[in-house]
Amino acid sequence: MFGATLPNSIAPSLAMPEAPKHLHLDDDHDSNTTSIMIMDNNKRALEYIEEVTIKADEIQEKVLSEILSRSAHAEYLQRHDLDGCTDRSTFKKRIPVVTYEDLKPDIDRIANGDTSPILCCKPISEFLTSSGTSGGERKLMPSIEEELERRSLLYSLLMPVMDQFVPGLDKGKGMYFLFTKSEAKTPGGLLARPVLTSYYKSPHFKHRKHDPYANYTSPNETILCHDSFQSMYSQLLCGLCQSEQVLRVGAVFASGFIRALKFLEHHFLSLCNDIRNGTLDNRITDPFVREAVMRILKPNPTLADFVEGECVKGSWMGMITRLWPNTKYVDVIVTGTMSQYIPVLDYYSNGLPIVCTMYASSECYFGLNLNPLCDPSEVSYTLIPTMAYFEFLPLHEIDGHSTNSISHVEQERLVDLADVKLGQEYELVVTTYAGLYRYCVGDILRVAGFKNKAPQFNFVCRKNVVLSIDSDKTDEVELQNAVKTGSHHLARFGASLTEYTSCTDTSTIPGHYVLYWEITTNSQTPLPSSVFADCCFSIEESLNSVYRQGRVSDSIGPLEIKLVENGTFDKLMDFALTHGASINQYKTPRCVKYPPILELLNSKVVSSYFSPKCPNWLPGHKNWCTTLHSN
Ligand code: AMP
Repeated sequence: MFGATLPNSIAPSLAMPEAPKHLHLDDDHDSNTTSIMIMDNNKRALEYIEEVTIKADEIQEKVLSEILSRSAHAEYLQRHDLDGCTDRSTFKKRIPVVTYEDLKPDIDRIANGDTSPILCCKPISEFLTSSGTSGGERKLMPSIEEELERRSLLYSLLMPVMDQFVPGLDKGKGMYFLFTKSEAKTPGGLLARPVLTSYYKSPHFKHRKHDPYANYTSPNETILCHDSFQSMYSQLLCGLCQSEQVLRVGAVFASGFIRALKFLEHHFLSLCNDIRNGTLDNRITDPFVREAVMRILKPNPTLADFVEGECVKGSWMGMITRLWPNTKYVDVIVTGTMSQYIPVLDYYSNGLPIVCTMYASSECYFGLNLNPLCDPSEVSYTLIPTMAYFEFLPLHEIDGHSTNSISHVEQERLVDLADVKLGQEYELVVTTYAGLYRYCVGDILRVAGFKNKAPQFNFVCRKNVVLSIDSDKTDEVELQNAVKTGSHHLARFGASLTEYTSCTDTSTIPGHYVLYWEITTNSQTPLPSSVFADCCFSIEESLNSVYRQGRVSDSIGPLEIKLVENGTFDKLMDFALTHGASINQYKTPRCVKYPPILELLNSKVVSSYFSPKCPNWLPGHKNWCTTLHSN
């Protein structure tokens, strides 16, 4: 997803505007011909955006009709008596708005090997494992082969848009830290893996044609390596060796990019040693990675001395521009919870533009940012109407509704893409080619403007999520249950948890969850610190699988409990009351972000404890007992 860009190959659907075609560049093209071809390709991509946004509503109608006619015989649509109808009005009357829990029985059947057309008439090719969870496990999103082409199409639009603002990016390389994660097989034999792993392993990525915009410093082998140390080390090494050519840097999310810089801070001596001698550290054992890196690595003592000299200077301020001096921008997502990383990115990059290019998910790729150099706080995404059929639940209507069923009254209030109102907030609901119908994605968006007839949305937040460091999304209920489990350890010492709240601390790299605990105890002697370490560990063990995977892969740091003085939470309430809260309605917030409250809490901390080890995590769902792929 995100960041990396590729030529597309989507077959133009009869009813749709023709998608821009492959950019095929052969080595024998002279640079003039190449430039003309790139300009032509960019022009066609921009024309495509223009056309689909002008005809947004018409296209949405066609997309829905295409999805419904293709899957007319799917059991799900028949169960809801759609009877082959493909019009919006019948669809809206008969098909319910659903969440993952509603679809879980159908999804479980597919995962267990039922190959009948349950949700979609095309064969389900794999499951994409979402970072959203259900019952502590990743959600499984069905996917079909052609979705890869739809994703490629969105990628292919990114650089033509970018070229309007930063020309010349075809003359150099992108240093992107991209990673694949482990994959599992469902009991029925379908692969279950994150959307990006699926994408990087697909021929669309691996066998991409020569394209100056898809020219990365990381060889494919380093991206496809599952060992996170080897992958990161080799990508950084290749990025450093080609530093003069790097024009843009990035990762999918800001957290991943910052982790790469921290890795450099820890490993620059070995990296410089490799650059100096043209040899590769023996911790890199993957033969494919070794071979790919050795194609790039040449002894370069001057570069090694320069990099080492910069890294030992003490300050890491502006390190991106110091080591990669031609970098024009940092391409990472900083909208949503990732905005917490903006200050540290600014520090490392000396204030280079931070560019958020696209908005996507395992369910569907949604849209792109047509004004990529805007300030992160102003980023808006234009949903591309050919990706899926989009509907929007006005937010004030759903205030307080549970994550379960949405009432009929609410369903009737859903509006179409072309009917959203400027300034209004909505929850996004999608109907996809792969068999999700009126599915609540869980994202809250605000209409910020329009590109022709297509709305542009600010990403407001993920519904219910209180804590997030990387791709983890922990909601209040999960946090509550985990804290309850963890606090059981206190009982052995005659103590109990009185109140708690939480925050994320991103001043450490990787960032970590912090819990503020106020406890009561019968005993005069302080509790041994091992009790709190046990509490931390139990909480981590109780958190969802995405959190635990993040801990194991070191993208999330150990959870911390900060014990606060007795009476601290009363002070928190006093603070809220003096700032206008009503005493009858006051509830302790389970997550705090407001700096003055964090200051108050931190001023009352008496001791702090960290989780002593990583929680358990294995690929796949806990109830699958099939062999797991670790590569
Ligand atoms: P996943 O399905 O695990 O790939 O996660 C998709 C979710 O990540 C989306 O539903 C959003 O909540 C979040 N996300 C994706 N792209 C963006 C973005 N550009 N800005 C903010 N959040 C995003």
